[in-house]
Amino acid sequence: MREVLEYIEQNQQRFLEELKDFIRIPSVSAQSAHDTDVQKCATWLKDHLKNLGLHAEIIETKGHPIVRAQGGNSNSQNDTPPKRLIIYGHYDVQPDDPLDQWKSPPFEPEIRDGFLYARGATDDKGQLFCHIKAVEALLRTRGKLPCEVLFLVEGEEETNGDSLADYIRQQKPELAQNLSGVVISDCSMYDENTPAITYGLRGIVAMEVQVKGPIKDVHSGTYGGVVGNPATALANIIAQCISADGRILIPGFYDDVRQLEDFERDNYAKLNFDDQNLKKELSLRGLFGERNFTTLERAWARPTFEINGIFGGYTGQGNKTIIPATANAKITMRLVADQDPKKIGKLVKDYLQAICPDYVNIQVSEPTGEKPVLIDIHDSLVQVGMEALKQGFEQDAAYIRCGGSIPVVDTFWRELQKCVLLMGFGLDTDGAHSPNERFRVQSFFKGIKTSAWLLDNV
Ligand SMILES: [Zn+2]
Repeated sequence: MREVLEYIEQNQQRFLEELKDFIRIPSVSAQSAHDTDVQKCATWLKDHLKNLGLHAEIIETKGHPIVRAQGGNSNSQNDTPPKRLIIYGHYDVQPDDPLDQWKSPPFEPEIRDGFLYARGATDDKGQLFCHIKAVEALLRTRGKLPCEVLFLVEGEEETNGDSLADYIRQQKPELAQNLSGVVISDCSMYDENTPAITYGLRGIVAMEVQVKGPIKDVHSGTYGGVVGNPATALANIIAQCISADGRILIPGFYDDVRQLEDFERDNYAKLNFDDQNLKKELSLRGLFGERNFTTLERAWARPTFEINGIFGGYTGQGNKTIIPATANAKITMRLVADQDPKKIGKLVKDYLQAICPDYVNIQVSEPTGEKPVLIDIHDSLVQVGMEALKQGFEQDAAYIRCGGSIPVVDTFWRELQKCVLLMGFGLDTDGAHSPNERFRVQSFFKGIKTSAWLLDNV
């Protein structure tokens, strides 16, 4: 590996310049005004991968194209075909607004205090580019890769990701051939000194609730005490869903929740999460959540119930003495293994309808959701990833989970039945989706080395 690592070190400034070129293309997938930029970015990436010697192509979809590139080890001498690794990434980015809050223009990358600032720096162009430059280093020094690499890079991650999910389903038998697993770097390290493998993601289920009272807003003096108030009814209904300390009260909600293993609790405890710091950072009077679970346990491995928005009645200036006609709430729940969003969605919908008082009507929308994911950390690819992080960052790596969802992980996992290795080179403080998004330059260089070690160890 010495010559590979030397190649990376000798070329890292050029790698950085190339990453800047990639970032300068404003591939905002959500805004149709950027459609040609998205197309241009896909072509730029395809050409770049082709120049490395990979078989690269653009796959048109009903939405934004997928860039696919494959290669590595075709001249293998023996009969057993080489192991394949799929590397996932996305070349599309979030919109750049609010523009006035950027210290440097979002699509003119600038390096300040060790960070590369630009839209897409960490999410996901910078992290994806780590793998691309590792492949270059291996190919240029050895002429072939230690395993077969297949890049699948989508342009719709920041919108819906439908096209890639369809593609994976359609191409399943072909993609799964000799597959060791899927590598994704579109997430974070634990902190700047602790690289990490994310082995768990929470799922989600979402629904909207509307409580209906009188046919129109009516006078609270004339009708108060006689006509039931939908806003009060909604508040009562919600109060029966979750206790003040975060315990979800819906019968059966916890039935399928997989309990934390002792080794997980030990691992999280060792990370020494700083509750006081979080309180300070968010100006909180106190932290919230279920008793008998630490902050990291609650954020990573326990389900939640949240009202994302609640509205109804008069919200303008001064008083308006009415009983409103309707009240609404948007509700999401984060789920953990082995909760099923369909089952939980039905459970919650039935419960809300059952506890609704008989003086109002309730309408609950059809729940939608994503499944939670929990990867077996004993899988050999995870072990190889852990070793590669140690080698690339020269620091011990941690096993962590993430409270959010990455839907493509579940798609890969379910369709291909192979380990998905979530190896983030970013930081939670990188400001993905926010103004002044950034990527630590050192993480970029170390990420390239990590990826090279990973491919070599597979
Ligand atoms: Zn991303």
